[in-house]
Amino acid sequence: MRNETIAIHAGYEPEATTHAVAVPIYQTAAYAFDSADHGAALFNLEAEGFRYSRIANPTSAVLEKRIAQLEGGVGALAVATGQAALHFAFVNVADHGGNIVSMPQLYGTTHTLLSHILPRQGITGRFAESDKPEAVEKLIDENTRAVFAETIGNPAGNVCDIEALAKVAHAHGVPLIVDNTVATPILLKPFDYGADIAVHSLTKFLGGHGTTLGGAIVDSGNFPWAKHADRFPAYNKPDASYHGLVYAERFGRTAYIERARSVYQRTMGSVLSPFNAFLLLQGIETVALRMERHVENARKVAEFLRKDPRVAWVNYTGFPDSPYYPLVQKYLDGNASSLFTFGIKGGMEAGKSFYDALKLITRLVNIGDAKSLACHPASTTHRQMSAEQQRVAGVLPETIRLSIGIEHVSDIIEDIDQALDKACRAARLEAAE
Ligand SMILES: *Cc1c(COP(=O)(O)O)cnc(C)c1O
Repeated sequence: MRNETIAIHAGYEPEATTHAVAVPIYQTAAYAFDSADHGAALFNLEAEGFRYSRIANPTSAVLEKRIAQLEGGVGALAVATGQAALHFAFVNVADHGGNIVSMPQLYGTTHTLLSHILPRQGITGRFAESDKPEAVEKLIDENTRAVFAETIGNPAGNVCDIEALAKVAHAHGVPLIVDNTVATPILLKPFDYGADIAVHSLTKFLGGHGTTLGGAIVDSGNFPWAKHADRFPAYNKPDASYHGLVYAERFGRTAYIERARSVYQRTMGSVLSPFNAFLLLQGIETVALRMERHVENARKVAEFLRKDPRVAWVNYTGFPDSPYYPLVQKYLDGNASSLFTFGIKGGMEAGKSFYDALKLITRLVNIGDAKSLACHPASTTHRQMSAEQQRVAGVLPETIRLSIGIEHVSDIIEDIDQALDKACRAARLEAAE
């Protein structure tokens, strides 16, 4: 594990502890001003403090501070979900006419946001042929406003070459925005490799218990908005919606995250409930420990599956013959993700019988829970697609996606073993009929 002890024990400022928010004395939508002048200073963004919970909330502020520290950024904005975070992250760089150049391997809903929803607002998602920097560079033009990648793709499991992607983006004067949900800052700190903005679904590993939705945007503070004034006028020209404020001038290194809050969170209000912020903070207290166990358990399960004659294939990036193995060494310190796919022999029916026979592992579509989870994409998330569309999306009829939890690994393997047995018996019975 990379530096997690330092991040957890030395990185937090005293006020960024859960104790500060463990017992909310009261909940409030708005905050009292000392005087008219105090209120005016808060509204002018001249004084630090709180005015209305849509814009900032003390409990969420602790969460924001902690996530910013874990990622090594200058500031963060907590929002209601990972999808809200991605939406704000994109519109905070691109206006009508702009485009975002993205890796093709994405979380399904993010793919929809870039390919269907943002285009209606005049912002185009361009998908590279592969996650290789050369494929990405081909699509960048004068209207490009960012390069986007999932550090580890969900569900594809591909590991992106962040350093190379950042070089390509910066050579063209645009930031690299990454979704670091699957890796978490425990396995990978994208800002160390040149990424400018990190986005999270806190719903997954950071929250860690499958109980609470949440999202966050983190600003590295490193992108020079003023240097690229023509490409990013919103940071360099007076903002008429905020009495002429010029973000790059006023905020310098925190311009991106301050603009996300005062333009998008203020007017569109994807607010995280402070109670959810509290639950997510509690989850983050154990994320370093949990990631260690997720990674270790996943390796043992992948090795068990690979040796098993009932299994057709295992797509796990921790195997030395995986094309992503070198990137797992470079970026994840050898800690391959606990999210991976495998296929049982016997196609769709065998896949379904295996899935139905699981007892400990829960059948649902979430990931990053302390509990092990499985999903059969061909019968659920991808069932509306044709067989050909499924193949392009990397989904075979027998594919099972596993998100390996932190239970005792013998219990996980025992469950998989008995479900493989039932699936094989069902296939033999069918063959005999
Ligand atoms: C789940 C997920 C999201 C969306 O997050 P929500 O909190 O469900 O809105 C975005 N990106 C990735 C990689 C995810 O796994």
